[in-house]
Amino acid sequence: MRKVVAYETRADEFPLFQKFARKFDLDIKYIDDVLTPETAMEAKGAEAVTILGNYPVGSGTFKALRDVGVKYIGLRTAGNNHIDQEAAKAYGIRFSNVAYSPYCVADFATMLILMCVRKAKQILSRVEAQDFSVEGIQGREMRNLTIGIIGAGRIGSIVAKNLSGFGCNLIAHDTVERDELRGILKYVSLDELLEESDVITIHTPLFESTYHMINQERIAKIKDGVCIINCSRGAEVDTYALIAGIEAGKAGAAGIDVLEDEEGIFHYDRRTDILDHRQLAILRSFPNVIVTPHTAFYPNQAVSDMAEMALTSLVSFVETGKSRWEIKS
Ligand code: NAD
Repeated sequence: MRKVVAYETRADEFPLFQKFARKFDLDIKYIDDVLTPETAMEAKGAEAVTILGNYPVGSGTFKALRDVGVKYIGLRTAGNNHIDQEAAKAYGIRFSNVAYSPYCVADFATMLILMCVRKAKQILSRVEAQDFSVEGIQGREMRNLTIGIIGAGRIGSIVAKNLSGFGCNLIAHDTVERDELRGILKYVSLDELLEESDVITIHTPLFESTYHMINQERIAKIKDGVCIINCSRGAEVDTYALIAGIEAGKAGAAGIDVLEDEEGIFHYDRRTDILDHRQLAILRSFPNVIVTPHTAFYPNQAVSDMAEMALTSLVSFVETGKSRWEIKS
């Protein structure tokens, strides 16, 4: 029986870990805490650990893992920007991510688009206050809108397929064009997408080329009143530029599932704390901005995929020295 140490484990993951531990004959040690140089000591005796994405993993942690004999990290997340790849290489630790069901994020993005277009935040908050008036909550019909998808990959292409049922005009900007999408959307340049869209939804990974992709200069090019959806990575949008765009009426609504510097806030109960995150406070205060705490990934199918793929990857690393999900710099 192989030992695996699972960090950042949530209660809803336990039954899944137990199921896959039986399948792969694993002895799993559960640690609630994030992986740090200090908690790395808990992995002594294991070659493999699995983590989520709530804390950066840098050279101090890689050194501590190497010192206790860990060789592999199986991320239970798709994003891997929290891993210092150079440090991983320097300490000889290999890692993989997971490619869980893209429908989870695509469905959530579709929901946020509909909620923003129909002003759902204002409707719901008014009903809570017994305000049943309709003034100011008029929405728009999807079939009258042009939706611009930035990054029509695994998730973005399903957003396109979801939205094709509403009869809206679909355009996309991507560095790679997929033949299977040509019947339902038109590929355009990023500038054309910014100029033509009523809704812009971002589904590109966070790279140097996509860092602050939505910035002041690009917000200046969008139509007045555009709805901006980010279910990808917070740092793809310059949050202060978005706030200024909303204040100026350039952006008419936003659905934000991911936010710059969300770590330590999203996925935690911080009800009694004074939060050190002014952009979040401002965005939450806007009646036309819906903030969700990085929850697009969270239906049962995706959570099961995350646990199963991360453990499959670790077993494969340990038994064969290879994993189909390995991230190589
Ligand atoms: P993917 O790699 O399948 O698709 C990304 C697409 O973006 C590709 O088609 C690629 O060609 C395109 N692209 C890359 N760089 C580009 C650029 N500079 N300009 C235009 N297009 C570019 O990735 P995916 O599985 O669809 O995931 C997209 C992102 O969704 C992930 O990287 C992750 O950040 C995010 N995500 C968020 C959640 C959540 O809970 N909110 C969960 C999972 C994934």
